[in-house]
Amino acid sequence: MTTSVRVRFAPSPTGIPHVGNIRSALFNWLFARHHGGAFILRIEDTDQARLVPEALSAILDSLSWLGIDWDEGPTDEKGSSRGDFGPYIQSQRKEQGLYQAFARQLIDEGHAYECYCTPERLTEMRKRQQEQKQPPKYDERCRNLSDEERARQRGSGAATVVRFAIPLEGKTRFSDLVRGEIVFENETLDDMVLLKSDGFPTYHLANIVDDHHMEISHVIRAEEWVSSTPRHVLLYEALGWDPPLFAHLPMILGPDRSKLSKRHGATSLLEYRDEGFLPEAMMNFLALLGWALDDKTEIFNQGELIHHFSIERIGKTGAIFNREKLEWMNGLYIRNLPVHDLADRMLPFLEKSADIPKPVPQDYLARIVPLVQERVKTLAESAGLTDFFFAESINQDPDALVQKGMDREGALGALERALGKIEGNAGFDAEALEGALRPLAEELGLKTGQLFGTLRVAVTGRAAAPPLFETMAVLGRDRCLSRIAAAIKALEG
Ligand code: GLU
Repeated sequence: MTTSVRVRFAPSPTGIPHVGNIRSALFNWLFARHHGGAFILRIEDTDQARLVPEALSAILDSLSWLGIDWDEGPTDEKGSSRGDFGPYIQSQRKEQGLYQAFARQLIDEGHAYECYCTPERLTEMRKRQQEQKQPPKYDERCRNLSDEERARQRGSGAATVVRFAIPLEGKTRFSDLVRGEIVFENETLDDMVLLKSDGFPTYHLANIVDDHHMEISHVIRAEEWVSSTPRHVLLYEALGWDPPLFAHLPMILGPDRSKLSKRHGATSLLEYRDEGFLPEAMMNFLALLGWALDDKTEIFNQGELIHHFSIERIGKTGAIFNREKLEWMNGLYIRNLPVHDLADRMLPFLEKSADIPKPVPQDYLARIVPLVQERVKTLAESAGLTDFFFAESINQDPDALVQKGMDREGALGALERALGKIEGNAGFDAEALEGALRPLAEELGLKTGQLFGTLRVAVTGRAAAPPLFETMAVLGRDRCLSRIAAAIKALEG
């Protein structure tokens, strides 16, 4: 198995990829990398009516951001590609005539037929089925037309599709690598369309023609495709090809155990990027949506995921997408980053903040990072936690300057004395500041919490901030002095 693994991620560019799509990509990629096989990206854009123009670049960006590289597939939106089995975009493959040729072969061998039913007739048929509480299924009217009738329909210029002639009896079974033996009664399967009247293949035909020609060994995809699989198995049979092995991934659920959707919050992967999740944390998190090594290990770097990944450990039951767990995991990855790396990653988020003047001084930032590294859960949040370090002026609410159990006079006096201490103090590191200011509380008859609280609001503009003396040391003498002076003014005014 080590050399023959070829797997693919085959998204349809009909929307911005959501975490479920990318989870499928990740599982395929981990499987390929574990076995030293090939991971292929194929774009299934045969449903031309549902194309979303920005979807392809979002697919490429999502994979690249997460660090999922593909051995074969498109390399840009314009259709360049790498790999020996291209093109990898189905609309470009259509030109090669493969889909049409196999549809024709299936017709010639009695496995498919032309259907001339109008959309109106099909709608009518569906309505009737609904009224009679029957499952939706093509009623096979065109399956047994005489040659004369076919010639007449064609002559009349009727729009034609090609449908697959599903065997009328029997069962179709396949062995799913995750869910075991799965059996479908053929009579429940629809004579699905293979080729549409616009000459494009449907998903079903294009998907299996390409999986076969790209020599795909394993199809690893979401559970929603289980019901398509027996039809694919029958198509492989009809074409005389060996089907790949199938593995269907468990559904991703929201915390309320319903299928993950927009109403559970962000579902597009790129939104998580924009919220400041680290790709390595996201990869770790996505890998655990339906896969586990054991019942305790949660943190895996990329190498460990590749090392441990196996289809045997994919679960059957729905996987819960828990945002709090993702935030926890992201915080953990952030805490483990070297300071300069975290600074580099925070920088674009700080630059986006309207409250932070540009350019952001890098050496100053490098001194701020250790003060927030323990607390930040997402990179986007880091702007709000650090903007006071950069701001020209901060908002010093006089009411906030006056701590519990103090009055305005007391706060004013405390700040004036603190100003004097700081001016007279030679050192400006955290230790020197604490040495000068801690005794002041006693001198003033204040609790340290009161004095430090007032000072914190004066120098940061907020009640909660990183440790006071470290923060003051990073802010520097000039900024601290002018902010305390401004706070005194605010209290006087
Ligand atoms: N184009 C299908 C999708 O959008 C691919 C399903 C499959 O992997 O076969 O998910």
